[in-house]
Amino acid sequence: MKLELSKLELSEQMIKTCLEMETRDINQGTSGNLSMRFNNGFLITPSSMPYNEMKPEDIVEMDWEGKFIGKQPSSEWRFHRDILKERKDINVVLHCHSINATALSCHNKDIPAFHYIIGLAGGNNIRCAKYATFGSQELSDNALIALKDRLACLLGHHGMICLGKTFKEALWLGSEVEAMSKIYIKALSIGNTQILSEKEMEKVVKQMERMSYGKGPEPEGSEDIARPKNG
Ligand code: 13P
Ligand code: ZN
Repeated sequence: MKLELSKLELSEQMIKTCLEMETRDINQGTSGNLSMRFNNGFLITPSSMPYNEMKPEDIVEMDWEGKFIGKQPSSEWRFHRDILKERKDINVVLHCHSINATALSCHNKDIPAFHYIIGLAGGNNIRCAKYATFGSQELSDNALIALKDRLACLLGHHGMICLGKTFKEALWLGSEVEAMSKIYIKALSIGNTQILSEKEMEKVVKQMERMSYGKGPEPEGSEDIARPKNG
């Protein structure tokens, strides 16, 4: 049986996840943000606050209209809201400016299937959303397009977004996307890479789904498996 967590417990897990982004070197400073489906809306990190100073009471509760209780929410609340609203298959949206994925995003190109592990994002590429100003509705619209049938995307000249059912899943995928980006940049340094065929990538994605590849078993009652109370 999985735990149903209170707002306080979820807020504590959110801060833990943000700090873990720094430990894993996929984010720096006050960049990046995190949200989790909760009640009739979601919980989201406040804007421009260093994660090591964040307290559970700083986590902001928002509804689907963008009304909020507490501190000023992340400037990216629009894409968090729109993704959580549209994508019933996930509960967590993680955004970060990890170095290698962000470097690739500055080329405005999708990451192709140069390596089978690209399949972790759900298909034969990781798309790059068209550039739009941070915090804008246009950025949110572009991100939703890039995330169609995918669990991750780059944001042009900005960073990346990763989705998951739990904080643990989103964090894990964020680290994987960053590692893939690093490998891709290294591979490109000695010439263009070959790309795996669509047929092969379909096989890879099916195999990953069948095995819950990389996610490992969900331990019963683990505090890592965050589930929103009425979500
Ligand atoms: P916030 O501090 O407002 O969440 O902004 C960080 C960021 O990454 C904007 O894209
Ligand atoms: Zn950002």
